[in-house]
Amino acid sequence: MTCLDARKRIYDYLNNKLSDEELKSFIAHVGTCKECMEELKITHMVYSGVAELDSDKDTDIDIDGALKKSIADAKFRLLKGFVRKIMIMVVDTVVFWALLFMLFMQFRVWII
Ligand SMILES: [Zn+2]
Repeated sequence: MTCLDARKRIYDYLNNKLSDEELKSFIAHVGTCKECMEELKITHMVYSGVAELDSDKDTDIDIDGALKKSIADAKFRLLKGFVRKIMIMVVDTVVFWALLFMLFMQFRVWII
């Protein structure tokens, strides 16, 4: 992902509109690109600042912490997707071998 691509996706990221695939490249890019991370921080600050005003809360605003949490959440979401894929793969494999084994047992019955 290029810086231009990443910056086009900042709003989508903050609105949780990125697909898992896009989210993955986006997180990877801002993790390595200082400029885009800075851009994300500023946009996030403006965004959460607005949200904070809207919600009318009188709490200390931990902008940096909020962004870190948002990125951690995004990574967790990706991890969950990854784990789900692995689980599906494992179940598929187990079912495949179970079927093969059953077929094999059945053949033995027929042959003997
Ligand atoms: Zn960049």
